[in-house]
Amino acid sequence: MKRRAIRDELLIFERNPDRVRRQGFKLPPLDVPAVEPGSVLPKAALRDEIGDYPDLSEMEVVQHFHRLSQLNYAVDEGLYPLGSCTMKYNPRINEETARLIGLAAAHPLQPVDQVQGALRLIWELEQALMGITGMAGVTLQPAAGAHGELAGILMIRKALEARGDARHEVLVPDSAHGTNPATATFAGYNAIEVASGPDGTVDMVALDQLMTDRVAGIMLTVPNTLGVFEHRIVEISKLVHDRGGLIYMDGANLNAFAGRALPGLMGADAMHINLHKTFSTPHGGGGPGAGPVVVSEALVPHLPVPRVVKDGESFFLVEDDAASIGAMRGFYGNFLILVRALTYIWSLGADGLREMSDVAVLYANLIRRRLAGTYNLPYDSPTLHEVVFDDTRQTAYDVHNTDIAKRLLDYGFHPPTMSFPLIVHGALMIEPAESVSPDEIDIFCDAMLAIAKEAEENPELVRSAPHDTPVSRVDEVRAARKLKVRWTPGSDE
Ligand SMILES: *Cc1c(COP(=O)(O)O)cnc(C)c1O
Repeated sequence: MKRRAIRDELLIFERNPDRVRRQGFKLPPLDVPAVEPGSVLPKAALRDEIGDYPDLSEMEVVQHFHRLSQLNYAVDEGLYPLGSCTMKYNPRINEETARLIGLAAAHPLQPVDQVQGALRLIWELEQALMGITGMAGVTLQPAAGAHGELAGILMIRKALEARGDARHEVLVPDSAHGTNPATATFAGYNAIEVASGPDGTVDMVALDQLMTDRVAGIMLTVPNTLGVFEHRIVEISKLVHDRGGLIYMDGANLNAFAGRALPGLMGADAMHINLHKTFSTPHGGGGPGAGPVVVSEALVPHLPVPRVVKDGESFFLVEDDAASIGAMRGFYGNFLILVRALTYIWSLGADGLREMSDVAVLYANLIRRRLAGTYNLPYDSPTLHEVVFDDTRQTAYDVHNTDIAKRLLDYGFHPPTMSFPLIVHGALMIEPAESVSPDEIDIFCDAMLAIAKEAEENPELVRSAPHDTPVSRVDEVRAARKLKVRWTPGSDE
């Protein structure tokens, strides 16, 4: 079943082709002295006039941009199965609270006695996140997951330096999220890859060999990017701790086990949480997000400043502290994202959060059950919140994962994450998230099964997809290498 026809939309330059004079606005006569262009802003910063710009009425402009917005795909439209991204619904109640005037208009430079409510809200979210993870401390400052990783690794470095044992390597399993080795490298460590065993989890023999006194710690994505839980995590933590290392856990996908298991009991020393994934705040398009980091006792002294501290019924800020890694960003984080996350946590409650994780895992397993006979499952280990297939069965018909993803666009779905994790060739990484209806899961699986059938019966149809989108297949390599962000009239590309 195809769910929608995507209409083509003319470029604004192609509208009103006869260039009939129309008026989109009417300004009153100028009642201040006219200013020469370039006399206020530097000339170099001014854009040239765009030549041959059509006149359009206000409504034509509104309709044009409205229709363009409809060419996009959004969580409000349907299943958005982008693996590892947790593209879940952003409940509207979150937006209501974030718009409360006392919160939305609060200024970070207001004196603390004027913003006690805002500080309390931060403190409450901190308590909630420590409770959900079983950890001893938390910072809400980082603006994204990767930023949280950096904060966590810097705290680990500070702790090791404080005990006079600076180390130079960080272990990263080959099934980790790509930001993990990037973070270790950015923080000045050599990232050393640890191989996965046949079940997709860390190979203990490899870990035993690599875990030397040069190693500051390990960055473990839990569940890993195969959607597989590191079932030996306690053993891993013990081995690393015994040899003086610390455990960084990537908890971006906490909706796989929140309410069911505590990272604090798994031996984690630092773990980031993506509020824009698990806790339903909006993401995509570059932010804003929030990547709080929860930490163990060992790292509490090194948390970033400023820190919100509760004293009786009042809240104040600790601004400097020699043991801290310092500030990770201005003020205390993306405050209105924190408001949304706390709204979500409080509206679900402990039982609701557990149900969130249960349904996320249930849906991934529903998809696994329905597609496993048709798409190849490279790892047979139990699936948590996401399931990774590959295209080996379809390559027999010369149909590859990209072709399947493009064909899904014709069926009205955003494609899954492609070609990741790197340890799976031709990967299709599907994460439904728990917020859609079971019917939506069915329609998606029907589409995937229909595409597999097309791959056998009419592979060219799949190879040449998408057919129903305004732009057909783009040259992705060229699009990335020859970046051109502004189209100019008269150019033919
Ligand atoms: C999304 C994700 C990240 C990075 O989070 P950003 O907010 O995009 O920086 C890191 N690790 C995992 C496992 C993720 O899924």
